[in-house]
Amino acid sequence: MVQVIISDTLNNEISKIIDKIFERYEIENRIRDKRVLVKPNILGPFPPERGVTTDPKLISAIVKNLKICKAKEIIVGDNSGSIHFDPLKIAKVTGILDASDGCFTNIAKEVIEVKVNSKYIDKLFVSKPVIEADYIINVPKFKTHSLTTITGAIKNMFGIIPGGKKAQLHTLTRSVNEFAELLVDIYQIRIPDLNIMDAIIGMEGVGPTNGEPRIINKIIASDNGISLDSVMATMMGLKPESIELLQIAKKRNLGEIDISKIDIDGKLEIISGYKTPNNGLLQKIRKAAVPYIFNFAKIKPLVDHNKCKRCERCIEVCPVSAMNLKNSFPEADRKKCISCFCCEEHCPYGAIILPSWQRDLYNRLIRGK
Ligand code: SF4
Ligand code: SF4
Repeated sequence: MVQVIISDTLNNEISKIIDKIFERYEIENRIRDKRVLVKPNILGPFPPERGVTTDPKLISAIVKNLKICKAKEIIVGDNSGSIHFDPLKIAKVTGILDASDGCFTNIAKEVIEVKVNSKYIDKLFVSKPVIEADYIINVPKFKTHSLTTITGAIKNMFGIIPGGKKAQLHTLTRSVNEFAELLVDIYQIRIPDLNIMDAIIGMEGVGPTNGEPRIINKIIASDNGISLDSVMATMMGLKPESIELLQIAKKRNLGEIDISKIDIDGKLEIISGYKTPNNGLLQKIRKAAVPYIFNFAKIKPLVDHNKCKRCERCIEVCPVSAMNLKNSFPEADRKKCISCFCCEEHCPYGAIILPSWQRDLYNRLIRGK
């Protein structure tokens, strides 16, 4: 039975929790004289209290323990969401540079082409340290995601692909379900050996960037990322079986998603009133939409002119050049837009609004937007 450990950070020191996880998974024996990659979520230049990126306290405790266990090499690194972000600057703002205690590396610098077992793509460039690592510790955030409903262990491994290429991958798939398949393909390039999820400050609502931070005070660990994500979904009040990423991973025998078959060490509690992106029937139809009705399944992001600072990051990141300036503000071209929501994910000011499917239909039919 796969085990998932849920630890409470309110009554326990983070360093003690990490000690226990290292002991439980016998990390010392596994990593001595080995090359270890610690893969946090460093999506963009956001301070820890925003709940977007991995908490530096967790990274600090992991690095400290890896040093004690005498790893040959420790690398802490991630590819942010955009090539327009300076990795060192992001690491500094997120607190991960200091927390890494000399181990932070810009993993986008060296890439290597690898074969991918996927119907969408044969080969992909990924960061070389990922492939060279003997042991990978994935350190995702407990967050919702506007496109894939959750972002956790599986989605965090999307970050093995350097910046701009990630957005481009959205153009290879025609629906959210297909994109979820591609994400699992990428997860399978290099399945992490251990996952330690930062659920100290999570994110609810429309994540992964502009949702609301939610204090959870937990660290969740497992050597199986699928079961870990299933526990996270359950805590969010979602059924793991309803999440496309988890359905696909289960079909491929990558892990258990039936919560009754997962051995949970700790207290599994559903967080009261946790806000999740709409995953109702209409959303499900939209997510599965095949190309000939895809136009109807699209949702056009809108820009809140009161919040927009005209930084143009949404224009830079759009993989199909659908976002352009119109009367000094960015506006998405409905015909070109593929509803990947990269613009929303990368807007640092929360100025991009994703209307519900029904609201978008109203905007389209009644307001002509
Ligand atoms: S919508 Fe956001 S990302 Fe786009 S220009 Fe405005 S502030 Fe920048
Ligand atoms: S406008 Fe936004 S949602 Fe539409 S394709 Fe571009 S980045 Fe994706």
